[in-house]
Amino acid sequence: MPELPEVETVMRGLRARMEGQRIVRAVVNRPDMRWPFPKGLVERLTGATVLGFRRRAKYILMRLSGGDSVLIHLGMSGRMILTPGAPNAVPAHEHLVLEMDNGWRVGFVDPRRFGSVDLVPTAREDAHKLLTGMGPEPLDDAFSVAMLSEALKGKRTPVKAALLDQRIVAGLGNIYVCEALFRARISPSRLAYSVPGARAARLVPAIKATLTEAIKAGGSSLRDYVQPDGELGYFQHAWKVYGREGEPCEVCPEHRGCEGVRRIVQSGRSTFYCAKVQK
Ligand SMILES: [Zn+2]
Repeated sequence: MPELPEVETVMRGLRARMEGQRIVRAVVNRPDMRWPFPKGLVERLTGATVLGFRRRAKYILMRLSGGDSVLIHLGMSGRMILTPGAPNAVPAHEHLVLEMDNGWRVGFVDPRRFGSVDLVPTAREDAHKLLTGMGPEPLDDAFSVAMLSEALKGKRTPVKAALLDQRIVAGLGNIYVCEALFRARISPSRLAYSVPGARAARLVPAIKATLTEAIKAGGSSLRDYVQPDGELGYFQHAWKVYGREGEPCEVCPEHRGCEGVRRIVQSGRSTFYCAKVQK
């Protein structure tokens, strides 16, 4: 499932090929993905110029001349395939195709169809029902130690669950929360109300650094954010704790008696952490 850094990398890849270009042809191959495509989508896309892009949480907003923004979510398995001209073979499960006047072709492929596409007036992007009520972007200055401390005050839920709450901070997913908590040396089971102060002062920079490093790795490992097969944005990660059950974590050798990375289940999701270094 694409998380914030992957979505950011996909967005940058789209920007590199689409910004300033006109959409000469738009095709939808079925009536819906997770939800029905909005009425008039093809007409609104065709002939519009792509003015720019914005990411909000795990959503991509593509701003068009004419005042519409296209709100795109990649869901569980959504991928953007970019090809210079027609592909050798049209990918299976390609639901939306955009052909640009610079010759590039963009296909939205999503076998499981948890992805979605909607239209929203650019002037009212944040009022869209999927975006309204979201907390600050984790990489914005608005996401600060003071802000997080205030949001966690008095909360008797585990800090991991609080960080996954999109009203507290937008766009953090399971993997990056595990990684950031490891980096901050905070136990995922610690109750949120005990985090404000010194722990929040470690946690906020840990979240920002974890995401920034992943975005940087994504950009530098791909040419124009595009893989050789035209797929945008996904890249290999080296997780420090995620998926590493039983392995020593990178700081373990300094800590005697470490049992390695543990996996527990919180709110139905796997959490990976080192009980020795995360308190
Ligand atoms: Zn360890």
